[in-house]
Formats: sequence, structure tokens, C-alpha cells
Amino acid sequence: MRRERRRGGPVLLAGLGGFALGAATVLFVVWVYGVHPAGAPPPLPGVSPPRGAAPGEAPPAAAPGGGANRTGPPGGEAAPPPAVGSDVDALGRRHLLLPVQGLRREQLRDSFSEGRAGHLHEALDIMAARNTPVMAVEDGRLAKLFFSAQGGNTIYQFDPSETYAYYYAHLERYADGLHEGDRLRRGQVIGYVGTSGNAPPESPHLHFAIFRLTADKQWWRGTALDPFLVFTQPQ
Ligand SMILES: [Zn+2]
Repeated sequence: MRRERRRGGPVLLAGLGGFALGAATVLFVVWVYGVHPAGAPPPLPGVSPPRGAAPGEAPPAAAPGGGANRTGPPGGEAAPPPAVGSDVDALGRRHLLLPVQGLRREQLRDSFSEGRAGHLHEALDIMAARNTPVMAVEDGRLAKLFFSAQGGNTIYQFDPSETYAYYYAHLERYADGLHEGDRLRRGQVIGYVGTSGNAPPESPHLHFAIFRLTADKQWWRGTALDPFLVFTQPQ
């Protein structure tokens, strides 16, 4: 009895010490890496989608669906239809091209549900060397070239049926000769990976989002869909 109690003290203390050390480590990791899961690249403060309105435009209205706040001129306030799994399935069947040259599907990591400053990310971050070509994921109209404080140089492309929009952000620059209204072809180089907007200078990446447009097809509004799920649908 006594011996057990004597042994119990140090064991208990060691246990508490170990727990404290573990807790401190966890707190440190959380402090450094934010809410990102273990094994994830460092958080990218500034990989948020754009929120700033263009000069002369009214204050942005938050896009439905939380974090994928794309911004633009004011418009109708009608709520978009809710996103459904069938959207992901439908897009998956199109076998969209991966938007960064040389990228393999196995390299993708889902970052759709991660937290970003004050909102959900609702997009896919694809790390790549600066100036790696960015390609259109399928055919469709270039709806908007837009510069915002957060997204930097961005492109909004509609799919051929104008049901969905593809959003490419933090581009180093646009491809030469690109204009709004262009009919883009799948695989066409439309820009280059960079850090424009609020992307960290040491972390060039493409911020890529997909959203279902509302009935009035405004380029900045819609319901976010997870690109990772679209790209990793069984082929
Ligand atoms: Zn991002």
C-alpha cells in the first residue's frame, strides 16, 4: 500500500508533466499553424478570396456560402440555389483539366473547409513555382478580369452552359492578349501562378474556386463547390 502510494507520486507527476508538455506543444503548433490540420503546409494568411470592390463599385456584398466571398458591383439579393452533390457529380463527369501545368491529382490537398481570416476558405490552394502556367479547366467564356486587394489578379470564367464559374486568383500576371468576353479553350494558358493580392510573397499558389451561378449569372455571386471533390471524382 505504502509502496504503491510512494511510487504513485512520481508516476503521477511524470504523467502530469508529460501532459503539460504535450498540451504546450499542441498550443504552440496551433499558434504557429492556426487551424490547419497536421501535415498541412503553413497557413497562408492572405490566400483568401478577394473581397475588395473595384474602384467606383459599391461595397461588396458577401457571397452566399461563407468564405468564397467574391465581390463585385451590387446586384440582386436573391439567394442562389443550394449546392447539391449532383453539381459535384456533374462537374466530375466533365473531367476538368487541372489548372496548373505539370500538376498531378495526387498532389492536391483539400483546403475547402479550412478557416481563413474570419471565414471559410471554400476554395482549393495549389502551391506551385512562381510563373507556372495556369490553364483553363475547360472551354467557356472569360466573364471578368478583376483586380482586388485580396485576390490580386483574378479571372472569372463561366463554363459553356454558364451554370458554373471558375475562379483563378493570385495570378502573377495574365496571359498576353487576354480580354473579357474571350472564348477560352480547355488547356489554354490564361495566366501565371504568383502572389498578387494578399498571398504571402514566399508562397506562390493558385487559389482556385468553383461556384454555381445564380439565375442572373452575375460573375461574383454563387454557391461554392469543393474543387477538390470535383477533381478527384472517380474517372
Ligand atoms: Zn486560397
